[in-house]
Amino acid sequence: MYYVDPHIHMVSRTTDDYETLAKMGCVALSEPAFWAGFDRGSVESFRDYFRQLTEFEPTRAAQYGIQHFTWLCINAKEAENVELSREVLKMIPEFLNKPNVLGIGEIGLNKNTKNESTIFLEHLDLAVAHDQSILIHTPHLADKYTGTRMILDMLTGDSRINRGRVLVDHVEEHTIGDVLDEGFWAGMTLYPVSKCTPARAVDMIEKFGPERLMANSAGDWGPSKPTAIPDLILEMRRRGHPESLIRRVTYENPCEFFEQSAGFQFTPPDLQRREKST
Ligand SMILES: [Zn+2]
Repeated sequence: MYYVDPHIHMVSRTTDDYETLAKMGCVALSEPAFWAGFDRGSVESFRDYFRQLTEFEPTRAAQYGIQHFTWLCINAKEAENVELSREVLKMIPEFLNKPNVLGIGEIGLNKNTKNESTIFLEHLDLAVAHDQSILIHTPHLADKYTGTRMILDMLTGDSRINRGRVLVDHVEEHTIGDVLDEGFWAGMTLYPVSKCTPARAVDMIEKFGPERLMANSAGDWGPSKPTAIPDLILEMRRRGHPESLIRRVTYENPCEFFEQSAGFQFTPPDLQRREKST
């Protein structure tokens, strides 16, 4: 079965990981800009990072038949530095027309501070001005409900935002209902140590249905598992869910969400083969 990982940080992963993902059926992935594990010193560091995301990673992924897409922003952690954030925001449009860019992300909140909210709102302005989709990081653990609620209030308070073009990521049992009820897409992150296990994700699919719902590995430089989506597929099969439902959550839904972005020029592998043989 083919699948798409809509949230994974391949700059932190090895080429061996690309090979493993390809063997497991991953045909496309999207990589939001995020925190590198340390605060970057200048806008030039972000320019180089965006070049990596728009030039080098798509090339590396293509060697394994995986299509690489990306999202650009300054993450919530570094958004605490408002001056640097504004320099990055001003520079982002240089990259918005690169062929693999899907929109602005992952923006959001980390400690739910005033500076983070200020820069979150300025990212929304940028997305609206350039007609971009948005991918959102919600904070972890104790801050999650408060932070998610703050984010949803900022989004719903802005009549310019098309909710169908916003993916709110890292949802859990206590936040998924609000996200879906208010018309946004929701992403469940499968993490070995925090966030959500495959079993909990399948519980949520059973409870909320597959509409506007997808799952991701959020594989990065910390403890994480890039092959978490195949684990979810296995758990759904184990519970007897039909292949059509599995395909909807792990392939069709991310494609449907991404298709709203001009940068999503994606040919499914079965069609590629047909084109070659004719
Ligand atoms: Zn992430």
